[in-house]
Amino acid sequence: MATPGLAVAPATDLALSGLTKLFGTSTAVDGVTLRIRAGEMVALLGPSGCGKTTTLRMIAGLVEPTEGDVMIGGSRVTHIPVHRRNIGMLFQNYALFPHLSVAENVAFGLQMRGLRKAAIRPRVEAALALVQLGEYADRLPSALSGGQQQRVALARAIVIEPSLLLLDEPLGALDRNLRESMQVEIRQIQKRLGITAVLVTHDQEEALTMADRVVIMRDGKLEQVGTPQEIYSRPATRFVASFIGASNFLRGRVEGRSGGQSLVRLVGGGRVEIPWPGDDRKDVLISVRPEAVALAPLDEVVPGALGGTSATVQQVVYKGQATHIHLRLDDAEPFVAFLPNRQGESISQSYAVGDKVWASWSPQSNWLVADS
Ligand code: ATP
Repeated sequence: MATPGLAVAPATDLALSGLTKLFGTSTAVDGVTLRIRAGEMVALLGPSGCGKTTTLRMIAGLVEPTEGDVMIGGSRVTHIPVHRRNIGMLFQNYALFPHLSVAENVAFGLQMRGLRKAAIRPRVEAALALVQLGEYADRLPSALSGGQQQRVALARAIVIEPSLLLLDEPLGALDRNLRESMQVEIRQIQKRLGITAVLVTHDQEEALTMADRVVIMRDGKLEQVGTPQEIYSRPATRFVASFIGASNFLRGRVEGRSGGQSLVRLVGGGRVEIPWPGDDRKDVLISVRPEAVALAPLDEVVPGALGGTSATVQQVVYKGQATHIHLRLDDAEPFVAFLPNRQGESISQSYAVGDKVWASWSPQSNWLVADS
């Protein structure tokens, strides 16, 4: 959709090829190869120290790669300085000039590019309108809330019509509610302008909400790349399954296969069917999301039933929307079920510490992960 006064630069793709950064002898980023499509928003997500910020800084031109290349729109920019890459950036600390008004802050990048006043004005107005700050053009940053200041920073990043928008933990300083609405707002603006964007965050919900694809990083390498749904419902490894959302892990042994299904006996007791034709693996690790689990009193279950396991209640935690029932399986492994609370009533009272229960889930909720 066109935005009056703000031209949209043609969307540009980004390619990272074997990107590597060593600090002394320690490897911060280790051979990252990734293609980001024009107009796509990709989130780099991972635990502290996994190399996300260093990767972003190499894309920006703020850190020189030890090896590998950065290509923007098909051109190699690996050794081109930051100010010649036409990149818009948004950081956690808004980095606004305190003595300049909102409009002057937004205009700054255009002045530095040598644009004339008459050309700057409509672009600044359009950028401020896009972030809903048209009324605040003459205020100083100190007279704005944190969320408003971050909107000014966003307007300043997009007013230069960047080829690429880089966001480094942009909402980290805001409180939860504001963060959620800003996630949606930034996402809408990015889509509307069709800017290719890379977001660094350690907040999994932020990554799932904002990105077209999520990149999970671990120890400087890419662990898994996929759409939010792929990453959440088909995690490749134990690491991804436990980093994105909560997960239960069950060890099991394949007992038989037929018609595209495998029958697995769980080490902690019970048997489950998995819609998986099987391969030469005998010992498997299954991930089961806590919200997929249903509980019933153990004495109501037919002995030897398929699709679950017996367990003992260890703790009952009321969490508002859901009650988390922490369990222990017969092999002493922990297991958790998230049970939704209906409006006005909690299911907390239905379970007590020490209760014997049957935890069950559908075959489709079993997902095999690599044990790494
Ligand atoms: P966080 O979420 O904590 O910001 P991150 O995933 O962004 O973490 P990076 O900041 O990229 O991780 O850091 C990756 C590794 O490189 C870490 O071990 C870090 O200590 C190291 N590192 C980053 N910058 C430098 C530097 N300038 N000098 C030395 N080591 C560095």
